[in-house]
Amino acid sequence: MKVITIPCSFDNYAYLVICEETGEAVVVDPSEFYPVYLELEKRKVRLAAVYCTHHHADHIGGLEELRDEFDGLTICGSEKDAGRIPGMICLLTESSRFSAGMIRGRVISTPGHTEGSVCYIFNEHLFTGDTLFGGGCGRIFEGTPGEMYDSLNVKLKKLPMGTKIYFGHEYTLQNLKFAEFVEPDNMAIKERLEEIGRKQGISPVTSPSTLQLECATNPFLRCQEVGVSKMVAGKCGVDPFDVLSVFTALRGMKDNF
Ligand SMILES: [Zn+2]
Repeated sequence: MKVITIPCSFDNYAYLVICEETGEAVVVDPSEFYPVYLELEKRKVRLAAVYCTHHHADHIGGLEELRDEFDGLTICGSEKDAGRIPGMICLLTESSRFSAGMIRGRVISTPGHTEGSVCYIFNEHLFTGDTLFGGGCGRIFEGTPGEMYDSLNVKLKKLPMGTKIYFGHEYTLQNLKFAEFVEPDNMAIKERLEEIGRKQGISPVTSPSTLQLECATNPFLRCQEVGVSKMVAGKCGVDPFDVLSVFTALRGMKDNF
């Protein structure tokens, strides 16, 4: 299987997942039509389905034109987004399984950013939309901090550490500046920032990352670490041993960073 990262709009990513054995492809989060269409033409693959991580307009902006262009295209997303994603006929629930050519995929329900947010895992490749970013996580718009905490720290952390993470926006540099503010002594964060500094100008910059790298550098996966909990407790006056309070306060700090 092959994954092509397609920069869209200002800082969005759409992804093309290709089964090289059959030439079948699916698109995850078609933010815009034209960049996705160009990539499909260039690769000469057959588009079978679109998988949406959530209903926000900047993730489904190219959907209607793709439907017009490709007859019989199957639009998939969370059943909780029924009526919010145009033309969605394939309603997925937690652990729903699907395939793209010879590639097997599975849904992980990850509410928090929105009620119906899901991640998709194809083999060892995880597509996280606005749930998990490089060095950060999405804002909590429809869910609760508890849901977002569980999505990130219980569900996604169960995956193998080598899992590749494909996120919905290029926010990594800003996120890591915040991570460094939270953990000024974390060398892995410094190294990641230096690496991004060396890559500036090359697009895409930081997608994909790995679960291992996120666990080492992403403060929203590190609330259990003493360095993070003490810092947040000191700034926000929460109980450093109450991990959910630390997570909630950390998200609030980032919203105002
Ligand atoms: Zn969103």
